[in-house]
Amino acid sequence: SRTAIIAGNWKMNMGPQQASSFAREIIPALGRVIQHNPSIMSILCPPSISLASVHEVLEAMPTSGVELGAQNMYYEDKGAFTGEIAPGMVKELCTTVILGHSERRMYFCESDELVNKKTLAALAYGLRPIVCLGENSEQYDSGETQSVIKAQIQQSLAGLSDEQASQIVIAYEPIWAIGTGKAATAVGAGHVIHFIRHTYASIYGESAAQAIRILYGGSVTSANIGEFMVHPDIDGGLIGGASIKDDFVEIVRISA
Ligand code: 13P
Repeated sequence: SRTAIIAGNWKMNMGPQQASSFAREIIPALGRVIQHNPSIMSILCPPSISLASVHEVLEAMPTSGVELGAQNMYYEDKGAFTGEIAPGMVKELCTTVILGHSERRMYFCESDELVNKKTLAALAYGLRPIVCLGENSEQYDSGETQSVIKAQIQQSLAGLSDEQASQIVIAYEPIWAIGTGKAATAVGAGHVIHFIRHTYASIYGESAAQAIRILYGGSVTSANIGEFMVHPDIDGGLIGGASIKDDFVEIVRISA
């Protein structure tokens, strides 16, 4: 069966100093959970300016098993792209990169086409992409969830090789559930995640679809993670607000 992932998306919180002290606080506790439960992984995703300071903390605790991820990157190798970070730079410190988060899509105009280029670049550099999908509240209310998700899969995840197709991670994050305290139900999220796996299978085949991890994100806390984790289609969580608190350790503990 698939190794579960609990990833913390710190968003635009915690500069290098704060990130370092928070990392020193939680990584030993996360390490104790992970070492006893090989069926769970945990990935911390601080802002890019804080990656090096968290990496330093991880290097000082080499047996923790905790991994590091970026929240975004550009797809070009290098060059005149002011303000961006390149896949090879991310790879120096990280195993993972979150791509196509709804906040990137909304505030920074990221299209499915751009997310696709970034996904292919991440895979080419040996990074594990966590590609985010999800409908907004109007689309949810008008029953368009499946058609929106299907188009996002077809466009954001186009052109993967057979090998790459079994390596990606998808995060289903309904936009109406992000930062609202109104999480989807486990049954509702599980239903959409089942649909994502089915749609993915129609493109890349059943064995790739069974191999990939599909996470739920949106107002996950230690109070509701247990319900999501017992659902057979849900392979973990992408945690926002609760990932920059001690509650994150509790979420990983409950998921293990
Ligand atoms: P919240 O957990 O704060 O709702 O954020 C979810 C999210 O966007 C994670 O990427």
